[in-house]
Amino acid sequence: MKDGICPKCSSTDVRITPIINTVMVPSVRQFDTYLCTACGYFEHYVTDPAKLADIAANWPSVSG
Ligand SMILES: [Zn+2]
Repeated sequence: MKDGICPKCSSTDVRITPIINTVMVPSVRQFDTYLCTACGYFEHYVTDPAKLADIAANWPSVSG
């Protein structure tokens, strides 16, 4: 998805969350959203490395 190609329908019209004006919106953007305009599929990515480390330390692993 991050390469601009939809993994579901192979469309190359993938869009990313617009940049938020951090002066007007003081909270830091915590997710990047990639969305395919052809089929509607989307993915979220956590962008804060500290949040990712916290999740890695506390959330259960799918692979066990
Ligand atoms: Zn698609």
